[in-house]
Amino acid sequence: MSVRWGLIGASTIAKQFMIDAIRAQADGEIAAVMSSNPERAEAYARENGIPAAVSTLDALLGADIDAVYISTTNELHLEQGLAAIKAGKHVLCEKPLALTSADAKKMVSVARKAGIVFGTNHHLRNAGAHRAMREAIAAGRIGKPVAARVFHSVFLPENLQGWRITKPEAGGGVVLDITVHDADTLRFVLGDDPVEISAFTQSGGMAGSGLEDGAMCIWRFKSGVIAQSHEGFTTKFAGTGFEVHGSEGSLIATNVMTQKPVGSVLLRSASGEEELNFDREDLYTRSLRQFHAAIRGEGQPSATGEDGIWSLASAEAALQSAKTGKTVSIDPKLGSGN
Ligand code: NDP
Repeated sequence: MSVRWGLIGASTIAKQFMIDAIRAQADGEIAAVMSSNPERAEAYARENGIPAAVSTLDALLGADIDAVYISTTNELHLEQGLAAIKAGKHVLCEKPLALTSADAKKMVSVARKAGIVFGTNHHLRNAGAHRAMREAIAAGRIGKPVAARVFHSVFLPENLQGWRITKPEAGGGVVLDITVHDADTLRFVLGDDPVEISAFTQSGGMAGSGLEDGAMCIWRFKSGVIAQSHEGFTTKFAGTGFEVHGSEGSLIATNVMTQKPVGSVLLRSASGEEELNFDREDLYTRSLRQFHAAIRGEGQPSATGEDGIWSLASAEAALQSAKTGKTVSIDPKLGSGN
């Protein structure tokens, strides 16, 4: 039996990656798309070969679908997620899950109680490069991890220079956009949770309305590992990377904070340098495969709702630190659901 998807949001990310990722599943089908604008819904459906176009959430949730993918602007995720859960649909939601971690917790808790599958679309966990790093660390190949460095400052493409840099009320800003991914990738690769963060943010010339378009964060993890991360919209030539340094070796990954299955991972130790092999499957296709398996009762989405709460709580702490000039604890109190 196929999994019939409804798309909530006629978005760029769905068009660029997620429609293909759903269709790459043997049992994946896209039944309908919802845009708040009927003409855009029609045009998007036509351009992407989607059979039905609707312009209200009720119409989408009333359609013959099993799951929804939410990729609207960030302030809408909560309300749309709660409505989809109420209608009994499985939910794959874009990050950040909501504008506050308290709201995200509420949504994830309601989903859990309703027995539906809920995932957060943190794609980087699905990258072969990050999985190879996680495995190398878990296998002790760098000894005891000591420090991590994340280079994730990019140049926001012109076609995306909209709500992200102009609308605080839509959840704009680089911290809700990219720091959430760094939080999730650090947690995944290190197999550890952050406990505190200190951050500086800047408005480096692209974002307006008081929004930040650059951030540098310093993190401390439960195990004692310290990390630094740099997120930005304004650096055209920086390149991306992810490093973990341990007592017996270092993992140095280049060009891996991206949506594509590219980049390289080098393991450097007393035995010399070794380039790690990893699979190059599309990140979003793998995410969808895990989500479909979770619907069949096999395992969990690659990033769960709880992972989405963690990443949002981390981003929230970063913003609070930047505002107050103080180090802020990260404590999402998972499981309380209140
Ligand atoms: P877009 O700006 O492309 O889409 C967001 C919403 O904006 C759409 O739902 C749509 O509203 C409206 N919109 C889009 N294009 C137009 C247009 N040409 N004219 C008028 N309205 C338009 O956002 P993204 O696709 O970049 O991001 C959507 C979500 O996905 C965000 O939550 C973001 O954080 C997340 N994201 C996640 C990524 C990941 O790798 N996990 C990568 C990129 C984004 P409507 O549906 O009502 O028409």
